[in-house]
Amino acid sequence: MLYQLPQIPPPRDCAIFLDIDGTLLDLAVTPDAVIVPPHLPGLLRRLALRQGGALALVSGRALPDIDRMFGPGLAVAAEHGAILRDAVGRLRGVVDEDAALRGLLGRLRDAVASRPGTLLEEKRFGLVLHWRAAPGNAASLTALAEALIAPHPSLTLQHAHEALEIRVRGPGKAEALEAFMGIAPFAGRMPVFVGDDLTDEPAIARAIALGGRGLHVHRDFHGDPAAVLSWLESGLNKDGGDHA
Ligand SMILES: [Mg+2]
Repeated sequence: MLYQLPQIPPPRDCAIFLDIDGTLLDLAVTPDAVIVPPHLPGLLRRLALRQGGALALVSGRALPDIDRMFGPGLAVAAEHGAILRDAVGRLRGVVDEDAALRGLLGRLRDAVASRPGTLLEEKRFGLVLHWRAAPGNAASLTALAEALIAPHPSLTLQHAHEALEIRVRGPGKAEALEAFMGIAPFAGRMPVFVGDDLTDEPAIARAIALGGRGLHVHRDFHGDPAAVLSWLESGLNKDGGDHA
């Protein structure tokens, strides 16, 4: 099959929404092992500047984790949209903390402790079981998670690449995108969302429904985050004269 990169570079008058893992960064064996290309934080900052601030990272990761990787200052939807930080740094908690989720912590910590190569990522609104380094544990950890959430209607499961998240039921990435589109400086622009995972599909569909573009790393960028970065750079270079 012949793949083509999206024909247009990100235009100046759009609002750009970017997933992180698998979209801007190659997936790694654990979430902490991803490598952030040294030029990427600066690239995102220049793009955000050029877009008048209308650029947001939209990720399942926790907010402090995202800031550690990219530095503070960007608009972010963290934990799949449970936490929003707008372009001027205002925080909006969209979801209430959930006691049932905290109550599962002990069982989940024990589960990964007894399964070498697995790990538990602990966030405010989600607990993620990762088994990329030990995929033989997928079935047993999935069964455990299903059993643990069964008595708790406030919790739901979110499947991802070699991982399963138990998360507080609430808005997802599509709702995060729509929330940003309702506020400055996003409002009135054309949304462009780029993602790679199951959690991104609703946001891809929402961007298209709102008259924008929904791009998938595998369908539109050969499955290669480096191609996404080149595409973003092409948007900057097209105008020339934009400097950090
Ligand atoms: Mg992703």
